Amino acid sequence: MNIDHKHVAVIGAGVTGLTAADALAGWGVHVSLFEKTPFLGGHAIQLNCKATDACVKCGACVVEDKLHRATRHPTVEIHTGAQIETVTGQRPYQIAYRTHSPLVNADRCNGCGICFQKCPVPGAILQGHAPRVGPYVAIRRELCRYFDNAACTLCRDACPQVAIGLSSEAQAGVIRADAIFVATGFTTFNPSGKPYGYGRFRNVITSLDAERLLREHAVMKRPSDGRPAGRIAFIQCVGSRDAQLGHPWCSKICCGSSMRMARLIQSRQKDAQITFFYIDVQTFGKDFQPFYLNARENIAMIRAIPGDILRTETDELEVIYFDPETHASKESVFDIVVLSVGLLPSGDNGPMARILDWTPDESGFLHPHGSDRHPAPAGIYTAGAVTGPMTIAESVSSAEKAVFEMIRYLSRS
Ligand SMILES: Cc1cc2nc3c(=O)[nH]c(=O)nc-3n(C[C@H](O)[C@H](O)[C@H](O)COP(=O)(O)OP(=O)(O)OC[C@H]3O[C@@H](n4cnc5c(N)ncnc54)[C@H](O)[C@@H]3O)c2cc1C
Repeated sequence: MNIDHKHVAVIGAGVTGLTAADALAGWGVHVSLFEKTPFLGGHAIQLNCKATDACVKCGACVVEDKLHRATRHPTVEIHTGAQIETVTGQRPYQIAYRTHSPLVNADRCNGCGICFQKCPVPGAILQGHAPRVGPYVAIRRELCRYFDNAACTLCRDACPQVAIGLSSEAQAGVIRADAIFVATGFTTFNPSGKPYGYGRFRNVITSLDAERLLREHAVMKRPSDGRPAGRIAFIQCVGSRDAQLGHPWCSKICCGSSMRMARLIQSRQKDAQITFFYIDVQTFGKDFQPFYLNARENIAMIRAIPGDILRTETDELEVIYFDPETHASKESVFDIVVLSVGLLPSGDNGPMARILDWTPDESGFLHPHGSDRHPAPAGIYTAGAVTGPMTIAESVSSAEKAVFEMIRYLSRS
């Protein structure tokens, strides 16, 4: 196929965008990879390997492999802290973008973790991967309080390496691309509006917070006092399968991910008692059913969605639910409650669709072929979780399929 001198813009450097960048570079295509955060790997790089005594096929290790593969190609040009501003013309497209320099100096940062402890906003500081530098600490401008009102400088003041500078320079640029690959992923449901005390009770956390806690400490420590949590509740389907919220879909990954996390915690904290509150368990993938049947032997499974969470005087969490066995209201007390939050369309989908002359589907995701009335513009492809909730393995295979279609398009155009 004749694809010499072709140039593709890949937008989003999660596992999908990294897979696409690597595959396109393998075909000899020049790639500009745009990532809006200061780090590569998207959500998947924030997850834990859930292996206990054996691999449990969670897929978390796949992203590191994709990251190393994509960044080793000299023809993959990486722009982090990047925002696409306009896309004009067609074949080639003219893409105008702006990049912000990172707030942490990757050469100085030694990953000591003091900034994590000081930061008051969960998820504002992450262990990420800098392009061609490796693991480092990244600050996300969109969550950092300094960019709200310049009031918080706790991380900068505490950094012993003087690696944090809370100002960054913006630079504008333009490229021409023969095709565009959109891999901007998803966002997670923000449970602050649910009656579970998220944002008010420090020991009510989301599943993504739990992933980060486990990466940081290996055991599940209570954010309020650093004590290892002995009694842990998972509440499933928070913000998904909820018609009232307009999110009727199943997020597909939560049952598998939470249950694997529960077993990982039990393998590290032998006395941990885990309770699952659930609607029903979705066992996607051929390997999950036997894993689930085994896991449920050690987990208290309660088929109920709690109505409320209260904080006791001794800083424990009282979960109130309708007990399906006694048909009466019941309370159980826990040290930590993990809300398994649903996967939602990213808030970037609307602006991105407008820039690309695309229409999101009725749920807000970007369907790979656009809609009947408004088909996807020629030369623009999507894959991964920007099209709907999916696992890492599904994101990788959807990226590979879309790259193949793109290569055929490039060879024709
Ligand atoms: C708590 C939790 C646990 C999970 N556990 C598992 C598991 O155990 N196994 C499993 O298979 N899957 C799991 N998943 C799902 C997994 O995270 C997804 O399958 C995967 O992240 C999808 O990758 P993606 O690249 O499509 O999207 P994302 O990971 O969302 O990556 C998208 C990237 O695009 C960037 N971006 C967004 N908008 C723009 C823009 N406008 N310009 C430039 N860049 C942009 C984002 O910053 C991000 O880096 C879990 C998800 C969550 C939330």
